Amino acid sequence: MRACNFKRRTLYPEMTLKSSVALRPGGGGRASAGRVAGGSDAVFAGRQTGYHARSRYRPLAANEARLMSDLKVGEAQPIGSGRVQVRRVLARNASLMTGPGTNSYLLGTERVAIIDPGPADTLHIETLLAILDGRPLEWIFVTHTHGDHAPGSAMLQARTGAQMIGLAPPLPMSGMGDHDQTFVPTRLYLDGERIDCGEFRVRLIHTPGHASNHLCLLLEEEGMLFTGDHVLEGTTPVILPPDGNMTHYLESLRRLQSLPLRALAPGHGKVMTDPPTAIETLIRHRLRREKKVVTVLSSMSRLGGEVALETLTPGVYDDVPAHLLPWAQRTLLAHLLKLEEDGSVVNSEGRWHMSPAAALQDATKDDS
Ligand SMILES: [Zn+2]
Repeated sequence: MRACNFKRRTLYPEMTLKSSVALRPGGGGRASAGRVAGGSDAVFAGRQTGYHARSRYRPLAANEARLMSDLKVGEAQPIGSGRVQVRRVLARNASLMTGPGTNSYLLGTERVAIIDPGPADTLHIETLLAILDGRPLEWIFVTHTHGDHAPGSAMLQARTGAQMIGLAPPLPMSGMGDHDQTFVPTRLYLDGERIDCGEFRVRLIHTPGHASNHLCLLLEEEGMLFTGDHVLEGTTPVILPPDGNMTHYLESLRRLQSLPLRALAPGHGKVMTDPPTAIETLIRHRLRREKKVVTVLSSMSRLGGEVALETLTPGVYDDVPAHLLPWAQRTLLAHLLKLEEDGSVVNSEGRWHMSPAAALQDATKDDS
């Protein structure tokens, strides 16, 4: 099934999990050690407009217009400046949950790397092998182990013997949903690690939030960041607790702001050519939603005390179609858990209210 209003509002679920590793050098040093269950999907609100952060990087040249090329299933579409050969191959798994489908990316001309082989779709894997045309596939990178990104890895690895680079999936637990347990990294990979692929280098950047084992992959020679589902084109990923974590998601977005990026190549959708604006837009979208959570919860709390999640959802997501509310509700929970961590709201046996301090602040604001 394909969302007819994909450009405006899309649902892309991807499951989430908690993986082992990932250290943040100099950046808080958090290790996402525990293996926690979770699921994450992505409800995409419409792209925000009217905001433009000033890019620190040079604008795209005319010959880089191909970065914006339309997506075509099963074709090797060149993207990037050409310093490193990068080709995008769209898998045929378009759906309400995956938008136009999953993007697989091939990097290099002699010794090749593939990012996100996608679902375990024999036709897609055969397409990737045909594009390789006998050249050795030496590296398989996986941004995260959701079912639309990772399961093709084992099939490709069996045919090529390539190294499997990524973070391990969480242990399967009740409610975990669609996590690819067949993905087994060749070794333990660390946040910030640079993989030397001869013609190019790929830096691993741990970006938990959508999935606890999510990596963004920086192709250094191009300044191109393969964002998986951390940043998507035309929509915003959902954050589904317990594996999805809104605090981590916002931290991971802010982390990208310090990178020298010229383009974002997402797991779904087209290349984005203004990374600072795309990232800032996502941050603002989340903070705006968080503010709405506080506003709606405050007013409902005043009327009736503690509020159930189901009661809160339609008020906070009054801009989301009714059939997407179950997913919106899960992301709302992620917002509430962040606010609870921040000390703004209190969870009392599954019902929510403002913390006394936040309520007092709110009342003071009303009086002023
Ligand atoms: Zn995805």
